[in-house]
Amino acid sequence: MRREQIFSRDDYHCVYCGEQFEAEALTVDHVQPRMRGGDRSAGNLVTACGACNARKGDARLAHFLHAEPVARKEFFARAAPHVWPRILRTLEEDLERLERETSR
Ligand SMILES: [Zn+2]
Repeated sequence: MRREQIFSRDDYHCVYCGEQFEAEALTVDHVQPRMRGGDRSAGNLVTACGACNARKGDARLAHFLHAEPVARKEFFARAAPHVWPRILRTLEEDLERLERETSR
């Protein structure tokens, strides 16, 4: 999957802040990290701006979305329809676990 195809699918909007950018300011982010078995298929790739990608850093997506409610809302509104259901389910389970842990 080419970068431009991912950007185009997401209409050049960052899936975390929801802002629209030029292609030069955008990066392709893996929903499931490569080191955790994520591949480079369309359902595992989303558009992220440089600033959001830098803030996310090496954090797991569930932790990042848990810490940033805006990113969470934008991600589920923009990216969820394109992400493989299996990956989305794992993400939702991770988020639910984080919520249970922090509400104790
Ligand atoms: Zn962003």
